[in-house]
Amino acid sequence: MLNISGISIEVCKKPIKNMHLYVKPPDGKVTVSAPLAMRDETIARFVRTKVSWIKKQLAKFDGQARQSEREYVSGETLYIWGKQYYLQTEYGNRNSLALSGNKAILTVRKESTAIQRENFVREWYRELLKTEITRMLPKWEKITCLKAAGWQTKYMTTRWGTCNTKTGKIWLNLQLAKKTPECLEYVILHELVHLAEKKHNERFVSLMDKYMPMWREVKSRLNSQMLDAAGSHAGNQRRGLP
Ligand SMILES: [Zn+2]
Repeated sequence: MLNISGISIEVCKKPIKNMHLYVKPPDGKVTVSAPLAMRDETIARFVRTKVSWIKKQLAKFDGQARQSEREYVSGETLYIWGKQYYLQTEYGNRNSLALSGNKAILTVRKESTAIQRENFVREWYRELLKTEITRMLPKWEKITCLKAAGWQTKYMTTRWGTCNTKTGKIWLNLQLAKKTPECLEYVILHELVHLAEKKHNERFVSLMDKYMPMWREVKSRLNSQMLDAAGSHAGNQRRGLP
């Protein structure tokens, strides 16, 4: 076993001529195979010249793992209003999330679990979204002369928004706070238009065209990227969206 730049490397001596370096799935185990007679020093020197390559490979495995299971720890990324932030976790007595440059500094209790951190971040997104809805919804209500009887935010994995045409109430997906603000504008408008037209028919489309001529572009941008959801919650977000 070698340890170079904090990376553990397994050494396998075999009856071979040249050294080979592997970073293997699923967890990125690093192995070097070397000729039987080769000295450890020579092997270490070889590995040292490959450190940046090894790190690049390890980052790939890391990225794959995180996409399915978020821990809300340093090194992960968060999207806020379409912008990517690098998460930096710090310990403290009070939970908070602060943005500084391209960093999202998450302060949590040391003993917090991934679920607790996720819940905190989710509620943080909710506050962010609520503030924008409070600003945007009246604007679109004025433009369209359609009025929602009420609205709520909800964590959803298959829809960006829903509308109950009977009660006139609108639900907006918490995850819209991850997308650019124009995406939220589009979903608000879409749900408001449902108050006038239930179905996605010609009339619906012509109303959308009237109020937001470039809604198709925004829609495709909104759906082009998978939602950055926590592992078990990540449903099929490409279907069933407004
Ligand atoms: Zn719809």
